[in-house]
Amino acid sequence: MTRIHLLPGREKALLRHHPWIFEGALKEKNASIPAGETVLVCNHRDEPLAVGAWSPASQLRIRVWSFDPDRAIDREFFRDRISQAISLRRKLGVLQPDGGCRLIYSESDRLPGVIVDLYAGFAAVQFLSAGAEFHRDTITQLLLEQPCICGVFERSDAAIRKKESLASRTGHLGGSALPDSLRIVEDGLIFETDLREGQKTGFYFDLRSARQKIRQTANGKKVLNMFSYTGGFACAALAGGAKSVLNADSSAPALEQCRKNLELNGFTENYENICADVFQLLRQFERDGRTFDLIILDPPKLIPNKSAVMRGCRAYQDLARIGFKLLNPGGMLANFSCSGAMDMPLFQKITADGALQAGRNARIIHRFEQSPDHPTLLTVPETFYLKGLLSIVD
Ligand code: SAH
Repeated sequence: MTRIHLLPGREKALLRHHPWIFEGALKEKNASIPAGETVLVCNHRDEPLAVGAWSPASQLRIRVWSFDPDRAIDREFFRDRISQAISLRRKLGVLQPDGGCRLIYSESDRLPGVIVDLYAGFAAVQFLSAGAEFHRDTITQLLLEQPCICGVFERSDAAIRKKESLASRTGHLGGSALPDSLRIVEDGLIFETDLREGQKTGFYFDLRSARQKIRQTANGKKVLNMFSYTGGFACAALAGGAKSVLNADSSAPALEQCRKNLELNGFTENYENICADVFQLLRQFERDGRTFDLIILDPPKLIPNKSAVMRGCRAYQDLARIGFKLLNPGGMLANFSCSGAMDMPLFQKITADGALQAGRNARIIHRFEQSPDHPTLLTVPETFYLKGLLSIVD
């Protein structure tokens, strides 16, 4: 195994078990090692500290597999990590035969670059790093050995693969072939998802606990559900007794799926779907003086990279401002951010600014975060990304 050395003083993050090593911290940053191969990471005194995957195209040059430098990165290693991940989901109670969940969440399950979402026995897999790609066949075979998995489908089409010089790739990897329409049951609600084409791998499991809260909150309310995608919040709100739900999204296929999901759950009226740019639609509603009792704002990642922080923050604030403005007295705003670059204190400040600008006095009555099948690894704060606030106005 090739030994790669950290420059003096650059081992602090590693000693705190953070698995990312950037090229700037390395003595041999340009070593000619094939992408994905396992390297032994040593300090400048040549003492081994960890084993990780070499990623020549990325600034994030090594992702650590294990902080035990003697650990062999072989089939047994991946078998152990996969079983640990599955055993956690079993303990969380989210491993139901007809249900869905995130089975493997990358760094949090100590498998950097590997994401697996499970949909009623079908695993949608993303290999997002050179190391994950290198061990793709082993990981696929091991997944197929799991009793909870009957088929594996690849969705390695996330933009992040470009940073690793990996081409986009999707398709059947093994086991049973994906049926044309796949349904999962979550808290008694049915959701049909498109594993082949849907966003990410098709469904936002990270919002499960948020859907539960919306369901508990929606009774009797006139709900506005912005960035509705395939209607997760819409179904939850109507199941919770919402008086009506207005969904909007810029994707026509997502709204069509939203309509189907509402229908599958027996909701054939009391909702309306609008295909539009939400930013423009909200301004229109503001001009028209429309009001609602519960407004959900769950935009896509508005801060995709560091250079977008200012612009993204302004967009989140703008959404919050109009959201507060459109609330009836005693109404509630549920606003979310899935941008890792935005932490909870900043999101709270931006939301407060939005309320001030709207001239509303508001109190936070609940905080949302990603569901527990997307756990945060304590040593890797970057694994926490989804946050939201439920605020009630006077
Ligand atoms: N709330 C959803 C997840 C939202 S994902 C759920 O419960 O599952 C973000 C959604 O925003 C996507 O469906 C995407 O099509 C939509 N979108 C992105 N930009 C948009 C815009 N400017 N206007 C309207 N919809 C937008």
